[in-house]
Amino acid sequence: MKKYFLALLFSALCLPQFSFAFGPDGHQSIGAVADALLAGTKAGEKVKTLLGGATLEKMSIWADCAKGVSPDKDFAYTSAGRYPECAPFETPEGMAAMSDFVRRNNSNCHPGADEENCHKQYHYTDVSLQHDHYKTGYAGTSDHDIVHAMQAMVQILEGKPAPAPFQIKDEKEALILLTHYVGDVHQPLHVGSIYLDASGKVINPDEGKFDKTTNTVGGNVLMCPCGNLHSMWDDVPQNFKRGRANDSLIKKARTVARDTSPFEQWPVDWADDSIKAARVLYQGTAFSKASMGAKGPSWSIALPLEYEKLMYTMKEDALANGGAHLAQLLQAIWPD
Ligand SMILES: [Zn+2]
Repeated sequence: MKKYFLALLFSALCLPQFSFAFGPDGHQSIGAVADALLAGTKAGEKVKTLLGGATLEKMSIWADCAKGVSPDKDFAYTSAGRYPECAPFETPEGMAAMSDFVRRNNSNCHPGADEENCHKQYHYTDVSLQHDHYKTGYAGTSDHDIVHAMQAMVQILEGKPAPAPFQIKDEKEALILLTHYVGDVHQPLHVGSIYLDASGKVINPDEGKFDKTTNTVGGNVLMCPCGNLHSMWDDVPQNFKRGRANDSLIKKARTVARDTSPFEQWPVDWADDSIKAARVLYQGTAFSKASMGAKGPSWSIALPLEYEKLMYTMKEDALANGGAHLAQLLQAIWPD
């Protein structure tokens, strides 16, 4: 009987309205909300000047599109035509700019053999869910994770030099990257991670000796019939896609209170909120034993009933908060 309910649940989650194009919509909605909140402000003017008239909405996905640059093909952009949302950047100058960014930010962090290129690591951190607060030094954190990446971009926008290992060309590039990372930090699985042993039992990687095979990679190796958990959370419900629910998101974003701590601290505060949100989204989830593949272990998961409702509410909050926080941060850097 239980199996039957789970099968029903999975088919509900797999219905077309819950299987969307990967990634870009959430970023564009967050950018669009921030664009609206910044209209008529000094920060809004500064954004326009730096981006040469382009919007945060448009530039919000540039950091993901830059992943289409191949270091092993002399940093050529090899994804032309594959992702419709990247088309605006696929001009000769646009591809040269992405190639140049990746060339500077490919191996500057000295990635280990089992780690991604540096600029790809700027998008996330993997703090274990037992922690209430982000702290550098925990398993899954680094000096080039999403929290450090946001802090670095803020410093550049304040006119300070970029801290190592970041290699950022100018304020324009820093603003484009910050816009993307603020979006990612509001996706709970870009920050909070669950660590599992081979039997599927939750462990704390910061106790005892850290075993890298316990990392579930932000939910990317937690499999359910619709794909992996990370991509389920990257998807945005149809009515929050760009241009659809922006009005209601903008309204909600205007009610988001500004953090009272100094703005340099905000990236850490947002990461803390995301760890707590990740804890909520894992509640009631059952994990199988690990199965070993060529790329390492993966686990099957069974999600609790009503999971789609939880996802909907949490995604709505994440989009409104993300847009509000981005606008608040830029206004803190460039006050009226
Ligand atoms: Zn990203």
